[in-house]
Amino acid sequence: MLKGIAASDGIGIGKAFIIKPQTLSYNPRTVTDTEAETERFNNAVDEFCGETEVKVEALRKNSENIDADIISGHISMARDPYMLDEVRRLIREGKCAESAFETICDNFIAVFSSAEEDIIRQRAADMKDVKAGVLRCLLGIKEMDPDCIPEGAVIVARELTPSMTAGMKKENIAAMITETGSSTSHCAIIARLFEIPSVMSIAGLMRKVNDGDMIICDGTSGEVFVSPDEGTLKSYTEKRDELIRIKNELEPFRGLPTRCKSGRTFRLMCNIGSPDDVRRALDADCEGVGLFRTEFMFMNRNTLPTEEQQFEEYKKTALMLNHKPLVIRTIDIGGDKDIPYMGLEKENNPYMGCRAVRYCLKMPSVFKAQIRAILRAGAFGNVSMLIPMITCEEELLECKKMIQTAKDELKAENEQFDPDMKVGVMIETASAAVIADILAEECDFFSIGSNDLTGYTMCCDRGNSSVDHLYSPFQPGVLRLIKHTIDCAKKKGIPVELCGEAAAYPMMIPLLISYGLDSFSVSPPSVLKVRHLIDGWDEEQTHEISDHVNSLRSCTRIIEYLSDVTNNKIIFRDIT
Ligand code: PEP
Ligand code: MG
Repeated sequence: MLKGIAASDGIGIGKAFIIKPQTLSYNPRTVTDTEAETERFNNAVDEFCGETEVKVEALRKNSENIDADIISGHISMARDPYMLDEVRRLIREGKCAESAFETICDNFIAVFSSAEEDIIRQRAADMKDVKAGVLRCLLGIKEMDPDCIPEGAVIVARELTPSMTAGMKKENIAAMITETGSSTSHCAIIARLFEIPSVMSIAGLMRKVNDGDMIICDGTSGEVFVSPDEGTLKSYTEKRDELIRIKNELEPFRGLPTRCKSGRTFRLMCNIGSPDDVRRALDADCEGVGLFRTEFMFMNRNTLPTEEQQFEEYKKTALMLNHKPLVIRTIDIGGDKDIPYMGLEKENNPYMGCRAVRYCLKMPSVFKAQIRAILRAGAFGNVSMLIPMITCEEELLECKKMIQTAKDELKAENEQFDPDMKVGVMIETASAAVIADILAEECDFFSIGSNDLTGYTMCCDRGNSSVDHLYSPFQPGVLRLIKHTIDCAKKKGIPVELCGEAAAYPMMIPLLISYGLDSFSVSPPSVLKVRHLIDGWDEEQTHEISDHVNSLRSCTRIIEYLSDVTNNKIIFRDIT
């Protein structure tokens, strides 16, 4: 099995169609007739732009506007007056057109590639595409004909550039896998847009796959199987067919409000781990982001992100959401998330130790930088701040004091920020749930973290298989805490969301409706599923169910009963 970056959800199965990079080699020459060489170069640029215009027109006719926009950008790049002048200057100095053009393109590519911003680095890929296109015209080499890609093929390439994907009939492609690229590269965007399962950045891919090999691409897990055994092929084929069936059943719920049969509406939000996930969340038809887990931004690097760097990321996320709600959670490190440079002390039991808000309050400079960045991002959208792992009122009051100090500083510095930003508390410890009435007095909203609430209530490590039988949000103790939390929020009149995995469990949904939950925050692939499930319930019916659940004494009984009453609503065997 090969592993790469999961770039576009879903399972694709088919035979490998390898796209080899075209060989564009030439012998650099010194030219004496520089005028003729300049004309040869001008003709090649004209030919490239002409071919590209034809492609753009075809794409627009096909409503493939993203590809059309990118490809038409290549024309402007190839006709950039500064670049053309530089190439012509090198030709006048005696370089052949190929060598002159390649030298100038490589200069641009080096500059773009070293940029910090993803979007500018992306221009390096476009420039490589333009370079290859004009060189091809100079060398008189024909482009690969996309029509030769057989139906149902899995595209395998070192890199897939915009001009390569532009002509492909997307509906014929089972999956796309590449050796380079990231979840923000052009190919990944196209894959998501056309819902083509895709995995990128698979080390050594081109050495490990031959033309015609059977491939399974799981774009959700990032796993790729080359020439799988019969059992694996059978189980993935079943999984793929099940996903297609579910998708078809859910599609009619796109664009609809989230409401139950009796008309009550809910907010259906997404959980994200980086600004890059916003696209997926919006494509999934979410109504906002209910949980931005910011700790991922602190991982995979060697130093703390500065306030400015954090601000840019949060602002970008807020702008992408275009005034839809964005709940940014302050860092939740510790527990299973160690970040070596952040100086967490080794603890015997890190889940019970200096995690999340406890770490932040011990490291006020780290916390303050994040608070300031979030407040500043609030000037660019509908942003609120969420504090994880609160266990008592003092912690919350201390956080609020720091938030106030940060606001005072920002005001004194004349910085733009949201002075009225809502501040919420994650209810994910047993103590927080029990004192929800007290916490509700001091915050603007609750977000129930059922993953940790289950762990901290049942005293189970998440993911410790020897206590798996106890780790369930359907344990009466956990359900009562969820209900109590929602009751306290209602009494105080503050909204309450649930952002743990349980928000998408078919058996949990009638209970959450009955308890009075306002918002569900789930992963992007679960959005339409949850809307569909909510749509199936009448509030009266959910009250009967929750009353009965309340009378049951064990998790086993509760699950038995709920699976019975929700059975006809579970069209999702494989995805909970
Ligand atoms: C939770 O605990 O339910 C939660 C949403 O937070 P995390 O999974 O990030 O701990
Ligand atoms: Mg948690």
